[in-house]
Amino acid sequence: MTDYPALHNLIAGEQVTGGGRETFDVLDPATGASLGHLPKATADDLDRALQAADEGFKTWRATPAAKRAGIIMKAAALLKERAADIAHSLTREQGKPLAEAKGEVMYTAMLLEFYAGECQRLYGRLLVRPEGARAEVRYEPVGPIAGFAPWNFPIINVVRKIGGGIAAGCSVIVKPSEETPASALALVQAFLDAGVPGNVVQCVFGDPDMVSRHLIDSPVIRKITFTGSTPVGKHLAKLAAEDMKRVTMELGGHAPVLVFAEADIDKALDTMAATKFRNAGQVCISPTRFLVEDSVFEEFRDGFVERAKAIKVGNGLEDGTQMGPMANPRRPDQIGGMVSDAADKGATLHTGGERIGNQGFFFAPTVLSDVPLEADIMNEEPFGPIALINRYAGEDEMIAEANRLPYGLAAYAWSNDVARRRRLADRIETGMLGINSAGLSAVDAPFGGVKWSGYGSEDGPEGVMACMVTKTVHEG
Ligand code: NAD
Repeated sequence: MTDYPALHNLIAGEQVTGGGRETFDVLDPATGASLGHLPKATADDLDRALQAADEGFKTWRATPAAKRAGIIMKAAALLKERAADIAHSLTREQGKPLAEAKGEVMYTAMLLEFYAGECQRLYGRLLVRPEGARAEVRYEPVGPIAGFAPWNFPIINVVRKIGGGIAAGCSVIVKPSEETPASALALVQAFLDAGVPGNVVQCVFGDPDMVSRHLIDSPVIRKITFTGSTPVGKHLAKLAAEDMKRVTMELGGHAPVLVFAEADIDKALDTMAATKFRNAGQVCISPTRFLVEDSVFEEFRDGFVERAKAIKVGNGLEDGTQMGPMANPRRPDQIGGMVSDAADKGATLHTGGERIGNQGFFFAPTVLSDVPLEADIMNEEPFGPIALINRYAGEDEMIAEANRLPYGLAAYAWSNDVARRRRLADRIETGMLGINSAGLSAVDAPFGGVKWSGYGSEDGPEGVMACMVTKTVHEG
């Protein structure tokens, strides 16, 4: 197995590093030790990337879709070939169990395969009018894109910034998280090795505020796409509005899970507990507020506590680990504070609630119940391995609580009543709803939210269309 790789920026196909550039220390979340040094791009580096993206867009948009598709398929194949090495680096820099990291690389390859097909189906529309007149509706790539991706899914988040764009014929400059750079670099290298020109996909790192302002400010960039927290998303959307640039925002959530008495409770428990603790809860669609119907509340709460206690926490590289450390030192500090706040306000702590061990950023799987609505954790995304379980009288109260927050990314419901399931689908304010299912991410379906969780979609045909603009040509 390879060691953690050397780090650099990838600008116009070249590895950019050294030259007196400042560096970040990348940490291993399982130990807190340094894994490597990541060079920050300078303003000159970013200008070079912008110029290259401008040139790359002109050639890539004119490249036949079938050729683009072949190259994207090749990149997917390279990722599959390299999956073991990439997953190893991903676990080292982000902490999640190796099996989850491998799954992430494979999903990335599958998404590219989907986009390779989709980019050959970007048809326009012909509106035939009387007397030979007609209107032609064309879809054209929006232009060079600046993408900003976070650390929780170090390769999926990044491919979501690039895949739809290059399928549509755009060039992309991506700024992944400085905390998980090796996975992003492996992805961009796979594109370059597959034949994507070096000025079509580029990867830069640096001070996030400096890089995003510099790229968004440039007239070259025509679209911004960001995954991360709602406050940062609002800030970037305002910057983008200055120049009317298109925007896709995939922001925070606070997913409700509605559990009804007639549901298969064991199945709900097994599925939701596994989903809650996946990636140590650092998932924007992580199930968080469990709204349980009165008559099954104790059964559900006790079953969840039992499953949380059984989770094996450890280094993601070790066999049998089900949950790794938190990805960075900010997370245990923040969620520790949220748990104390909830307990101070009257919540019951059943298990967890504290760090584990004295090295790395581990936090115990945690279950709180009877959490008052005024607790911070009922209103702000915990982004950690914490389940909040509360009791409700019935459907109307549960839907009201589900819709109470300004977020609307993911929601889940467990019910075997068909009429109720239809009502939930109609009434819950969310971008994605899982009914008797935790699978909300699929390459052929749009991924995205409503309200403060953002706008626009990634994945599915919508993920490519989000990188295109329409032009209508009317002929008399
Ligand atoms: P943060 O909100 O400062 O950063 C979130 C991401 O945005 C990081 O990747 C960061 O590099 C990037 N970022 C921050 N400022 C930026 C800027 N000015 N321009 C461009 N990118 C910028 O803090 P954090 O501690 O990394 O995460 C805190 C919260 O963010 C989490 O608790 C969670 O709620 C949310 N988050 C959401 C997702 C998601 O998948 N939607 C992913 C990561 C974090």
